[in-house]
Amino acid sequence: MQKVKLPLTVNPQKDAQRRLNYAGYYAANQLKRLAKSVVNVLSDAQVTLSFYIDPQKLVVMKGEAQVEVELECQRCGEPLKQTLECEFAYSPVASWDQAEVLPQIYEPIEFNEFGEIDLIGTVEDELILALPLVPMHSPEHCEVSAQEQVFGELPEELANKPSPFAVLANLKQK
Ligand SMILES: [Zn+2]
Repeated sequence: MQKVKLPLTVNPQKDAQRRLNYAGYYAANQLKRLAKSVVNVLSDAQVTLSFYIDPQKLVVMKGEAQVEVELECQRCGEPLKQTLECEFAYSPVASWDQAEVLPQIYEPIEFNEFGEIDLIGTVEDELILALPLVPMHSPEHCEVSAQEQVFGELPEELANKPSPFAVLANLKQK
C-alpha cells in the first residue's frame, strides 16, 4: 500500500462498498487541534483505515493512528516525548437516534448531507483521547531524582539538585 496524504473527509458508504483500505498520513502542521493539547507535534500522524460492510450490513470504518508528541513532565517540568496510539471502529449514522441501536463495538459517527465524515477531526479526537492524564517520565529518566520521589518534600535548599552527601545527611536525621 502506498503512503498517501489522507483526504480531510471521506464518504464511508462509498468506500465501504468498494472495500477501500488507506495507509496514509496527516502532516504535523495539519493537526492544529492536537497541537493545542501538547507542547509540540513531532511527527506526521500515520493512519491506516479499512472500510467495509459487516455481516449485519453496517458500514464500518476501522483504523489506527500513531503520532509522536512532546509533552511536559508533570513531575519535573522538562519535555517528554511520547507516542500516542489509538484504535477505533466507527459506524456512520444519519442521526443520533440511529446511534442508539448501534452495536457497542462501534462508535457512531455522523455524516453530513453529502454522506461525508470529518476524517481528520475524528483522527485528531482519537489521538487527543490517547493523551496521558498526567504525563510523566519513567522514574529513571526524570529530572526529579529517585530520592526526591521517594522521600517527597525536601527542604527547599535540597529540592534544587541536592548533592549525594546532602541527601545522605538528610536521611541520617530521620
Ligand atoms: Zn520528569
